Amino acid sequence: MSKFKNQLKVWDKRYLWHPFTQMKDWLADQNQPLIIDKADGIYLIDTEGKCYIDGVSSLWVNVHGHRHPKIDAAIKRQIDKISHSTLLGLANTASVELSKRLIEIVPRGLKKVFYSDNGSTAVEIALKMAYQYWQNTGHKNKRSLVHLQNSYHGDTLGSVSVGGIDLFHKVYRGLIFKTVALKGQGWQAVNDFETLLKKKAPSVAALVVEPLIQGAAGMLVWPKGVLKEFRRLCSKYDVFLIADEVATGFGRTGKMFACQQEAVSPDFLCLAKGMTGGYLPLAATLTTQKIYDGFVFDYKDQKTFFHGHTYTGNPLACAAALANLEVFEKEHTLKKLSPKIKFLAQQLKMFYNLPSVVEVRQCGFMAGIELKGRWDGRVGTRVCQAARQYGVILRPLGNVVVILPPLVIKMDELEYLLMSTYRVIKEITGGDFYG
Ligand SMILES: *Cc1c(COP(=O)(O)O)cnc(C)c1O
Repeated sequence: MSKFKNQLKVWDKRYLWHPFTQMKDWLADQNQPLIIDKADGIYLIDTEGKCYIDGVSSLWVNVHGHRHPKIDAAIKRQIDKISHSTLLGLANTASVELSKRLIEIVPRGLKKVFYSDNGSTAVEIALKMAYQYWQNTGHKNKRSLVHLQNSYHGDTLGSVSVGGIDLFHKVYRGLIFKTVALKGQGWQAVNDFETLLKKKAPSVAALVVEPLIQGAAGMLVWPKGVLKEFRRLCSKYDVFLIADEVATGFGRTGKMFACQQEAVSPDFLCLAKGMTGGYLPLAATLTTQKIYDGFVFDYKDQKTFFHGHTYTGNPLACAAALANLEVFEKEHTLKKLSPKIKFLAQQLKMFYNLPSVVEVRQCGFMAGIELKGRWDGRVGTRVCQAARQYGVILRPLGNVVVILPPLVIKMDELEYLLMSTYRVIKEITGGDFYG
């Protein structure tokens, strides 16, 4: 335990500015901060020694639990060799090995790996590459980027430009570049996309999507077949498909990548969150040989991809990612996940007994329970706060209570997580149909 245990809460409020947080509320909240000191498997442990189920996988990143012996050991082994060296003008062992492994498991057609360190930059890089590819290859008018309503692709300005969540993005409208937002959800968005392409395909560079499910929008699930149809239209009209699998990648939907659920191969695949098993910041933008070749010219032609982050291809993070993939294989994580996804689907139905529940949505091991209420009533926050009494950590998206545990959660733990969530929703919003 930190020797400063008794001061930490004061120091947090004095020195820290928390992400996505109205600090006025944070400072006034006597329950905050809950300070996590360590973890064990799917449990987070606070400075008082209290255990909590990590119900949202430490913001959607954790896969095999915390302190997995294999991943821990891989990082320690790497520390004893080297912790960081650059990819600018040099290569390093772990990042080379990881690139090969990634290419072996991603949808066919993706041949090259470009590293960065978070989901926003993974998307940002795909946007820049798509744009520059068309510039490099003489299609100067192919410049516009298309995205969906309610999309979320990260918080850097390029990613915000293709973002469609007003609450997060509106204030920056004056700062970002112009993009095209498709109208409607699901098949309506597909139709809108086709109409756009019929008129304007020669000016469209790429479509960026979150395959199968729009996570940050509140777990909005697409109808089956929509992704495949987006792929078909992109191919037909010569527009790149950027698949932002930052949230869905690494097993979340039940397959290693969501695109594989519909046998789709995107032109860009953006990966981050679960990539290191939730251990270290690492991201990758994968692309095809064709796009890569659109950057291979004489240096004097000035067609190089001039982009790179200082910690690109960090060996510690890459070692964690390699171990993460090895654990997937050795422990048959995806095979074991499949009955848990079914169980989750069954159990989620009972939430409709609660009159405060508007809708329950699920895609694989990602779920959202939408509650009635004004967006600023913060019912989601109150539910998640109350869940702590039952030893459960949750974080909502507005009125949507998110259920997104580590893939290795056991059936009885999952049941406890759902029962506790049910109870707190009932407590906070009052009653269910059965009293
Ligand atoms: C979380 C997320 C991002 C942003 O990732 P960061 O690592 O937070 O920058 C981008 N796209 C999707 C779909 C995400 O869920």
